[in-house]
Amino acid sequence: MKPAQLLWRLFEMDQELQSLRQAMAELQSKLGVSRQVMEAREQLAEAERRLKRAQQQQSELDDELAQVSEKLAASEKALYEGQGRHPKELQGLQEEVTYLSRRSSRLQESLLEVMEALEEARKDYQRAQEHLQSVEHEWKASQEAMAQELDQLGRRLGKLERRREDWASMLEPEYLQLYDELCKRKANPLARLQNGICQACGIRLPVAEVQRARDTDELVYCSQCGRLLVAE
Ligand SMILES: [Zn+2]
Repeated sequence: MKPAQLLWRLFEMDQELQSLRQAMAELQSKLGVSRQVMEAREQLAEAERRLKRAQQQQSELDDELAQVSEKLAASEKALYEGQGRHPKELQGLQEEVTYLSRRSSRLQESLLEVMEALEEARKDYQRAQEHLQSVEHEWKASQEAMAQELDQLGRRLGKLERRREDWASMLEPEYLQLYDELCKRKANPLARLQNGICQACGIRLPVAEVQRARDTDELVYCSQCGRLLVAE
């Protein structure tokens, strides 16, 4: 194998290592967080707030209605037992009864509306609870799947790292040093040379250069992008 081909093998391993590490980082960033679960929790909290608000309104209306009913009953009683009272007083009582009756029916209407809203809020709350449960269930399952995948990737990474180490230890130190320097200068410092064309930048190389890369152990670089060329 020519030096450039030996380095190419190392380069391939490094690229595979990089994509493995990227995939692992992506998985890790997804572990433990779920936008859907968080949204479902927020929805449930909001549904709970609405439910409590409706319950509060119902209880306030209940109290008010009880007070009004009590007053109404008292006024009615006073009115019916009021023979012999002064007509003006009776008229006042009558007006109060009328007013309280109206107030009472308005409160009853409001109470009906609030009870309907409360029923809706209860249903919403239940739906939000069920939704959260199912989302959490899916999330847990996907967490387990991701943890497994992460584990597999980790093992592949370990194997590949050992293979890379073995390969690097077999290379001449000067080539290894060169490779490290090339990698420092450029992200992808090697390129395939196919049919006389640099596969990284697409330029066609002079025939003499192509032959040199193909037939000798010399290191040949692309005249345009500067990458080390690896002939097949
Ligand atoms: Zn090139």
